[in-house]
Amino acid sequence: MAVIQFFTLLVQSILWNALQELEQSGFAWGALLFAALRQWQFWAVAGVLLLLFALCCRLRKRSQEVDSSSDEESSSSDREQVEEEAEEEDNSDSEDDLGRFFEEHIQWPVQNLARDCQVVKDLIDNFILVFRQLLSNSFFPVLDSSIGVGSAFEGWSPREEDIIYRLLVPLKPPHGHAFHLELGNRGETPARNFRVRVELECTCMREQLAQEMLCFLHHPEEELRRDQDPSLLHTLCTGSYLDVQKTARWFYQLVQAAWVLLPQSSTWRLTMLPSRRSCKFRVTEGNNKTHIIEMMFGVQQGNSDIFVSSQNTEAIFTPSTTWPESYAVAEAKFFRHMAGQVPHDSFHLRCLQAYARILVGIGFSTYTLKTVVMHLLNTIPLSGWRRRHFVLRMEDIMRYLRRCLEEKRLDHFFLGNERVPEEINLPPDFQTAEPLNLFQHLVQDPDAHAEAMREYMDLQERLTRLLISGR
Ligand SMILES: [Zn+2]
Repeated sequence: MAVIQFFTLLVQSILWNALQELEQSGFAWGALLFAALRQWQFWAVAGVLLLLFALCCRLRKRSQEVDSSSDEESSSSDREQVEEEAEEEDNSDSEDDLGRFFEEHIQWPVQNLARDCQVVKDLIDNFILVFRQLLSNSFFPVLDSSIGVGSAFEGWSPREEDIIYRLLVPLKPPHGHAFHLELGNRGETPARNFRVRVELECTCMREQLAQEMLCFLHHPEEELRRDQDPSLLHTLCTGSYLDVQKTARWFYQLVQAAWVLLPQSSTWRLTMLPSRRSCKFRVTEGNNKTHIIEMMFGVQQGNSDIFVSSQNTEAIFTPSTTWPESYAVAEAKFFRHMAGQVPHDSFHLRCLQAYARILVGIGFSTYTLKTVVMHLLNTIPLSGWRRRHFVLRMEDIMRYLRRCLEEKRLDHFFLGNERVPEEINLPPDFQTAEPLNLFQHLVQDPDAHAEAMREYMDLQERLTRLLISGR
């Protein structure tokens, strides 16, 4: 039963913390009790005990808990069976559900993400339309429709004040040009880095048909200089390679030039923000509501949902011709796909949102927790993510993270994972690729591993505090 699980979680956490203290100070059973009593959580638990006991009594029907293990072997028949059971339960869903308690008890951020994402998306679509007009006779990259990515568009941004709306604008080669993606060295980070080589193509045949452009390869240079805009190689490239920073600067100029042509500019304000590898700005609506927007650019790998993008790498220095592989579009698509599959009161985004909040100031990245949640979403039956299962799933996430830390291994969700839903379009080499270990640095560095284990304990404590105090 969920209440029992909740208590187990709290008591485990308190005793664990007490034992940690004792490990440092020498062990005695009397001291164990003393240390437990000293934990402020102990008294807090006592405080909420009565409240939850009352809740417990009012639960008319035991909720049918799904297998909470993070066992990767759960089959699709398990999934179906649990879903059927959940259907039967639906009608008898008690109002006194423990899930409802946490929905009301925890101070969730006040935000209207769906509305704000649409506002931002409409603005960027307007920008792209104007950009295309401004660029119609040039040989700059052709801009595709933007794709909303990251926590805001996936629906789990932790705090209103921190929201950055990230959009990826796919770049296509202009006429007479081709893009070739070249896989570079692994470098300092485990992510795969690419370069985008720009090659000129003969347009002599096309020119005869359309009489529109001179062939960059076969027309005299003087004629080209006089009658045609320069090729992409002479604008946004360094050597033969597309340059991220030059592309970012170009976007800045475009945004500033296009702003006055947008309907929004009559009542909104635009403020450009510094960024070397993306185009970042703040817009303030007429009602003073502000949005921070980051436009990144990317080149698609074939027809897949995987791009190489301008996003920053974790490396201290990233050359301006380096385009790291980006899974942001595939991740956003995964969350959209899941939104269509989970029960109507699914709390999977709430779980992620809660973790993103308590992670602030801890060494784990939100990407680590997001990866854990994606793995679990892909393996735990989807009917097990309802509001009533909130505490169980929060616990599962901790357990999964702990196992990964102990094994010093957290697999990347897309590279080398055979269980990615087929709706996500991956390049052919992805499933056969060697799984990428996001915790590789812990294998090589014992100090980093010890630190990560300490941070895990800190996270466990913060989770307990969140469940008890609601903030
Ligand atoms: Zn030619």
